[in-house]
Amino acid sequence: MVTLRLSGQQDRYGAADLLRLFFGGPVQELGDRLVCAGPDLELTCSIEPDEKSVWVQTRLGARVVSARAPAGKARRESRRQLYQILAGATGQHFPWGSLTGIRPTLIAAECLAGGRDRETALRLLVDDWFVSPEKADLALETAQAEHRVLETVPPDSLLVYIGIPFCPTRCSYCSFITREAPSRAALLEPYLAALCDEIRGFFCRITQPAAALYLGGGTPTTLTPDQLARLLDAVRTSVPLTADAELTVEAGRPDTIDEARLEVLRTAGVNRLCINPQTFQDRTLARIGRRHSVAQMVEAWQLARAMGFDHLNLDLIAGLPGETPTDLADSLGQALELQPDSLTLHALAIKRSSALHEALVCSAAAGPAELPDWAAAVAAARRSLASAGLAPYYLYRQKQTVGALENTGFARPGKACRYNVAMMSDQRSVIGLGSGAMTKLVRGSRVERIPNPRSLDAYLERAGALAGRKADAWLANGSGETFSLSSG
Ligand code: SF4
Repeated sequence: MVTLRLSGQQDRYGAADLLRLFFGGPVQELGDRLVCAGPDLELTCSIEPDEKSVWVQTRLGARVVSARAPAGKARRESRRQLYQILAGATGQHFPWGSLTGIRPTLIAAECLAGGRDRETALRLLVDDWFVSPEKADLALETAQAEHRVLETVPPDSLLVYIGIPFCPTRCSYCSFITREAPSRAALLEPYLAALCDEIRGFFCRITQPAAALYLGGGTPTTLTPDQLARLLDAVRTSVPLTADAELTVEAGRPDTIDEARLEVLRTAGVNRLCINPQTFQDRTLARIGRRHSVAQMVEAWQLARAMGFDHLNLDLIAGLPGETPTDLADSLGQALELQPDSLTLHALAIKRSSALHEALVCSAAAGPAELPDWAAAVAAARRSLASAGLAPYYLYRQKQTVGALENTGFARPGKACRYNVAMMSDQRSVIGLGSGAMTKLVRGSRVERIPNPRSLDAYLERAGALAGRKADAWLANGSGETFSLSSG
């Protein structure tokens, strides 16, 4: 049993994340202690305020790390010490070291601040945060790219996310609220009507233009061509867009793509299309519950290209069930033959609400299996992508990913996705429309989050009211014409 006693103003979430990273499994909070299964270890972390700074100390038996830190950096210092002690005690190291947050590029940007050169910033990440040199380099390259992309999104513009929480089938690793469309076909029409009400209800009161709109889900192309046309018509007639707005549609499943739907998207001005096979191995597609083949993926891709879509994105996932690093390298090779304009490489996240989590929990009795070296596989993928002319432009991390790895978007020059970067930055407001969508209103350095209900019934009942609530929240900031957006 691992017991960590915390005193002072500690970051309990960060400490619990580190315990999960090293020992897996759930972490319990018992008063001032965090407890999880593992070897018998008793640790203490304390933060003691001083006059202008704090004294941070972490102890495991005779191992002690301590340092003085500015009050605002005490929690970080405590996390750093805890990582250092746990790595020493267990002999384990992780690619992102003591960085447990979802946006390591924020820390990379801090390391670059004040005109530091890349070499100095890299040393800071490696020496102070225990990040591997490869990830430190990735974080720095991506942080610089994110900065460049964000500059192309006007500070007074907003982002719009529209969600269609339906898919043809449910992938085994899916943790979203998505429903299987065939068994819920009767819900598609009422959902579409509610969504159009919400879109119109919000934008009849708000005139700020959107610099990027993302139609995601789920799989929006599970809608029929006629339904898709009606939805995009509501967007066209309601949502003010900047002159060069980016319009992305996630056509995630190749088996939902046909000429009629692509024609609707093209006519509506969609200028970025995502076709996401996740793997180019037919046996894996069947294993994860998808009902399309690699051949269908290639066919959909070629059709979209032939119809003039000049920004096609695809997603791959490292660590899918039953796959090896060789499968990933092969899938990436096949993907690159299609000459994608951008490609996002995810690390599989095994969330509690997924069917895959259930299956893994049930098979845990068989004992831990030896895991492939996904970190090396993902690093090799980055090199292949660089050789093909795709550079990292945004990056985020999730919990419980294979190898504690990250998700990275790569793109050819000029093809980075603005929405991805600006949404992740928390420096531009996002209006989320549809069941489960999240609205983020940026107020200076503060972000107000307004979630839409995940329950379809609740959403169908309240879509109109939700639009009003969001518009009120937006306008409550001031005149509504001078909504304050932070650029720093
Ligand atoms: S395509 Fe995406 S949203 Fe749909 S079931 Fe698969 S993981 Fe979930």
